[in-house]
Amino acid sequence: MLKQLDEILTSVAAAIAASDSLADLDSVEINVVGRKQGRLTAILKTLGGLSIEEKKIVGPRAQKVKIEIEILIAARRAELEAVSGAGLIDISEPVLPKQNYGALHPISIVREDLEKFFRSKGFLVLDGPELESEFYNFEVLNIPADHPARDMQDTFYIKDHPSLVMRTHTSGMQVRALETYGAPLAAVVPGRCFRNEATDVRHEHTFYQFEGFVVGERVTLGDLKGVLEACATHLYGPSTRVRLRPKFYPFVEPGVNGEVTCSMCGGAGCTLCKGTGWLEIFGCGMIHPEVLRAAKLDPEKVSGFAFGLGLTRIAMLKFGVGDVREFNAGDLNFLQQTIW
Ligand SMILES: [Zn+2]
Repeated sequence: MLKQLDEILTSVAAAIAASDSLADLDSVEINVVGRKQGRLTAILKTLGGLSIEEKKIVGPRAQKVKIEIEILIAARRAELEAVSGAGLIDISEPVLPKQNYGALHPISIVREDLEKFFRSKGFLVLDGPELESEFYNFEVLNIPADHPARDMQDTFYIKDHPSLVMRTHTSGMQVRALETYGAPLAAVVPGRCFRNEATDVRHEHTFYQFEGFVVGERVTLGDLKGVLEACATHLYGPSTRVRLRPKFYPFVEPGVNGEVTCSMCGGAGCTLCKGTGWLEIFGCGMIHPEVLRAAKLDPEKVSGFAFGLGLTRIAMLKFGVGDVREFNAGDLNFLQQTIW
């Protein structure tokens, strides 16, 4: 009988190790310790008919075999459950491929990178309302109702609420932030903006801007250029250069375009930069005295600069996206690419 017990233990241990599903393991268990058909159960049932001497030898041995088998079954069950995902979770299991995990949108990747950069330079990161008053979107920025600059920004007005607009830029936050925090102040404002554009590969009605401004005593155009150079080298590498060219914006004086050496050709001229070697990245300038006054500041005492860049444009350049409409289309084939 002892020999029989040893044989059962050996063969059952092999069967447990070989079982590759929970169903397999269940049938091994039933065949050895099941109440009706278990081989070991059958032996245990015969113990009653043995002499006392035999019982003293066979009884403990049979119980030991039963416990060993139960331990082997429990261990194998835990392994199989971990693999199938049922029951216990084994956190040391390698990640299974081809799962649909969420990821950051390419615009968010660019935005978070710039937020981190400017925060490291001491800038506040602020948020502003997408549904903005006409007052903060235009009036405080030196763009009164009859100003031709309003025509440059095809605006979504809100039906039955003539004083509200979907903000056309993040610049309204210059005055909102200065009203809240006063000067000196250095802040950036990333955010979504809206214009009533006819959409094509380069134009979209919903896009993302990144606004920055510094206001304080003796802030100069030289400071602006320094900040733009730091930002441009962060984005495009240490050999990137910045040049400023005059351009009109109603809320800065003087207003300038901040151009950087083309990230693709390094300034030699290519299709991306249309042969010029330069890419327009920043719209910027010294904050107009009227804007400072709107923020209840004295332009004789403080000055400031502001700059804005298109997060959408930065993402297009960084990832080589040819059609701006891809970013808002919600197309998983676009979003699940591994280039981000
Ligand atoms: Zn180029």
